[in-house]
Amino acid sequence: MSLSFLPTPYPDELWFSVLSRYHLRSGNYCATQSVRDLFGRYKGRVSLELATELAVVMGNLHAPYMKPVDILVQHTLLPYYARFWSAERKQNVVHELTHGGGRAVMLVGMNTISGERHPFFRYCPECYHDDIAQYGEPYWHRAHQLVDLRICTTHGCWLCDTGVPFTDCEVTFRPALLGMELSAVRQGEASQQERDLSALYGACLASPLDLKADGGIHTAVLDEGLKRHGWRPVTGRWTKTREMAEAMRVFYDDFVPDDDVSQLRLTVTFGYAKNPAPRFILQVAHFMGIGFESLFSKPKKVDGIAEIRKGLEKGEPQKAIARRLGIDPGTVRRWGKIYGLVS
Ligand SMILES: [Zn+2]
Repeated sequence: MSLSFLPTPYPDELWFSVLSRYHLRSGNYCATQSVRDLFGRYKGRVSLELATELAVVMGNLHAPYMKPVDILVQHTLLPYYARFWSAERKQNVVHELTHGGGRAVMLVGMNTISGERHPFFRYCPECYHDDIAQYGEPYWHRAHQLVDLRICTTHGCWLCDTGVPFTDCEVTFRPALLGMELSAVRQGEASQQERDLSALYGACLASPLDLKADGGIHTAVLDEGLKRHGWRPVTGRWTKTREMAEAMRVFYDDFVPDDDVSQLRLTVTFGYAKNPAPRFILQVAHFMGIGFESLFSKPKKVDGIAEIRKGLEKGEPQKAIARRLGIDPGTVRRWGKIYGLVS
């Protein structure tokens, strides 16, 4: 037992930031000594986005502290990714992050699916001042380091770079400091569209995460949405990815990269991607007006036959119904005859 204390995490503080504040306050001259205090070893990486060997850290601590699983859910980027996984996969990764070493980063597949990391730790100018006023020091917010997020979901202002590199390296702590190098604040307001999408990214990170729930529900919700909007036939599994990519490009204007909304990307996301990046799923959901709560609640099934009947009763042309539902006009005619709505 070598840890006499560990700072209490601030709201939405990145776990790496807590460990960095430990190093700062411990008075240890060298980071190696802090790694020894925390992990009982002198070597190895300290994860920036996740956490490693939480069981060891907690075992080295004298006083009671947060549960490892609460640390993972509240102070790492894990929930953003894990929300979409099966219960079994969530449990495996949580076990690995609590007891194991660096393998968990690979299991999450964060860098593979999200692309390049942001090169520097980022800050929100408003949060920075609020934190100093409230806590007497700045700290790293986890949401600000989420690669997909460009604005602060609390204040709606642009996230800016600091001069502190966001790169792994052996045995280093990088606390946010008063007087650290901060890049100039970006002027101008984010569009409402970008704020709404960012709020969805933010909710995906910060909402409570049920580790026992199977995360596949969004697939059924999207399927229902695609059918309701006519991007997928009510009776089929294929998607009109070309038309949808065009419509999404117009919808998102220039704040979502073109590659995110390409036909190929949609084909992969709907088709064979086992672990698509959360942002691809969230962009599709937001495009169809599906909010966070709905994306993770059991969907209402689209009743194709009832939709045909409703359309015919309203006097909608048969061809228009077929187009809207992505089905053959013959199917509309056949059901129309059955119901006596088509002669
Ligand atoms: Zn902020």
